Amino acid sequence: MKILLINPNRFLFPPVPPIGLEYVAASLAQKGHEFRLLDLTFHENADALLDQVISEFMPDISGVTVRNIDSVLFHDNEFYLDFIRDIVLQLKDRHGLKVIIGGAGVMVNPEGIREYLGADYAIAGPAEDIINELLAALCCGENTKKVWNGIFRPYSPCSRITTAVDYKQYYNAGGIAGFETHKGCSSSCVYCIEAHSRVVFKRPENVIREIKGFIENGHSDFHLCDPEFNEDLDHAIEFCTALRQEHIRMQWALYMKPANYNQKLFRLMKETGVNLITLTIDSFKKCPLYWTDVEKIIFNAQSCGIRIAVDFLTGFPYEDNELLQWCLDYFRRLQPDRVNINTFIRLYKPLMITKIIERDDTLKTHIIGDWDNKEMILPIFYNQIEPERLRELIAGDRIFKVEGEEKGVNYTRS
Ligand code: SF4
Repeated sequence: MKILLINPNRFLFPPVPPIGLEYVAASLAQKGHEFRLLDLTFHENADALLDQVISEFMPDISGVTVRNIDSVLFHDNEFYLDFIRDIVLQLKDRHGLKVIIGGAGVMVNPEGIREYLGADYAIAGPAEDIINELLAALCCGENTKKVWNGIFRPYSPCSRITTAVDYKQYYNAGGIAGFETHKGCSSSCVYCIEAHSRVVFKRPENVIREIKGFIENGHSDFHLCDPEFNEDLDHAIEFCTALRQEHIRMQWALYMKPANYNQKLFRLMKETGVNLITLTIDSFKKCPLYWTDVEKIIFNAQSCGIRIAVDFLTGFPYEDNELLQWCLDYFRRLQPDRVNINTFIRLYKPLMITKIIERDDTLKTHIIGDWDNKEMILPIFYNQIEPERLRELIAGDRIFKVEGEEKGVNYTRS
């Protein structure tokens, strides 16, 4: 079959290459399908370009990746699905193509998003294997289900085609290439769609092969695409050890959670070129050990000379201003390079935080958005800390930034 893969993500602060489509492309090619990857990131006139590519390539079917449904932040929130819905409409109505959607954004509500976009099929989770099964079912004329669950294959050797994306354009616009050492997260953060997701690791040698491919093309800056690098301490150490043996000159940034670390890991990260850690923290029902881990991670990063930024989500139900004040004082004492504070919690249908709010009507006074629409596709937030109060407590301290007030992510800001 001929399949047109489309990246409609036009967010530019920074632009993010469509890594998921690169895995899907490789998997399709291995099964003998022909693909074309249309990246709309840098194109103003997406409509005309789409028509042109379809008339040249004449695909049998199309696949559209949905990285996020909106920018997740309350301030200046950007909702992406309406633009994607126009593309789906164009594919179906003007060109008669069936549309498969996939990507991280679909995970928050596969059927709801499929319906909102008017797509034919949705893949929830890794699409690289399951898409071939879906195509096989369609080839046989099966009247197949609408939502397919992706397959998590431990140590999958799945290859990746990186030549279909113009990486030079991404680097010129402040974007960088990514790679992943695993999928999924075993933690249970109540606000996160990755919580309790299946974890599957990749073999370090396969990941390093991808990195070398970029290095050969002159790109040596990377951002890790794992939810959090330190999902498993042994695997993180194994990966860094293998990377160090290759003596590759590169720089990379990554996310960590307050768990699974030791001094050896920090030494190895420094030796392999890690230049920025973003530590994901929240204030929801934490025990003292949690804060001890946060402190040790910040201390270890600082002692190794790795910059460390904190993404701090706070203002959960039943928290008070005293807790917020305590947290701010705690960060003032530790002095990470930067603390991004977010007090607007994006709600999605399957999240634990949504269920907590559902059970207590008094909490609903803090909802911004349409609570009655249970699909929660349009932006909806929980916020109980007045922005003025937050600013008062921050008191002009320059390590604190209010998330969303400044565009970008930690690696572009620093
Ligand atoms: S540790 Fe990070 S990725 Fe995992 S559930 Fe929490 S916020 Fe999500």
